[in-house]
Amino acid sequence: MNKVSKVKKAMQAYELGKFATSSQKVKQSLSRWWPARAALLGCEPYPLNVEKLKIAGALLKQGRYRSAGGYLSAMRREHVVSGAAWTEAMELERKDGLRSCLRGMGPSAQCSAFSLKEVAECKVLEGTGCAPFMIKEAVLLACWWALREIEAGTIRIKQVDWQAAAEGECGLTCSLTLPVSKADPMALGKVRTHGCSCPSPACPVKAARALWAHAQAAAVMAEDPGSAPLLPTSSGAFPA
Ligand SMILES: [Zn+2]
Repeated sequence: MNKVSKVKKAMQAYELGKFATSSQKVKQSLSRWWPARAALLGCEPYPLNVEKLKIAGALLKQGRYRSAGGYLSAMRREHVVSGAAWTEAMELERKDGLRSCLRGMGPSAQCSAFSLKEVAECKVLEGTGCAPFMIKEAVLLACWWALREIEAGTIRIKQVDWQAAAEGECGLTCSLTLPVSKADPMALGKVRTHGCSCPSPACPVKAARALWAHAQAAAVMAEDPGSAPLLPTSSGAFPA
C-alpha cells in the first residue's frame, strides 16, 4: 500500500469514527428538519441568520419539541460546515431561543408504577396467538430480568441455568445468559441471577421454573430442545 492510499484509509476511519453508527439516523432526521420547514416558508435554509433562527425557534416552541436543542445544534453544524461564519449574535439567539423552547416543559413523562404482585395474582391463565402461552410467568420473567421485547421474544431454553440455594422455598437460584448489546441480541455474555422470594406470589425463581418446565415439555419432539423458545406460544413457536 503506498503512502497516499494509507493516508486515505486513515482519513476514512477518522471520518467514520466521528459519529456512532447508531446515531447516524438521528443526526439525519435532525438535519432534515429545518430545510423542510424553510422550503414550506419559501426561504433558503442556509446560510442562517438571526431572523431564520428566530423562525426556527418559534416553530420548535410552537411544536413543543423537547429536543429543540438537538435541532438548533444540527442547524448550526450544517451552517458552519457549509463554510459560513457563526456569529456571536447567532449564538446568543440560539441560546436564548432554546431557553424559550424549554420553558415550562417540565420533566419527560415517567412510566407509572407496575406491580408484579398484582400480575402474579391476576386471573389470566394462558396467552393466545403470538403471545407466550404462560403469559403471566413470561411477564414476571421479563420484568425481573429487565428483558427488552426482542430479548424476551428470542430467549431459548439453553439460556437458563440453575444453582442450588440454601435459602428460599424454591431451593434454587436462576440465571439467565443475556445479550451484552442491544444492537446484537445474539451476542450472549451477560449473566443475571435472581434468588427465591417465596412466599411472594411474584417469586422470580418460581416463575422461571414454571416457564422452563413448560418449555421443556413443548420442545420434547424438537431436534435441539436447548434452542427451543423459553416462552413458546400455544403452538410452540417463538412469540412475536
Ligand atoms: Zn421461590
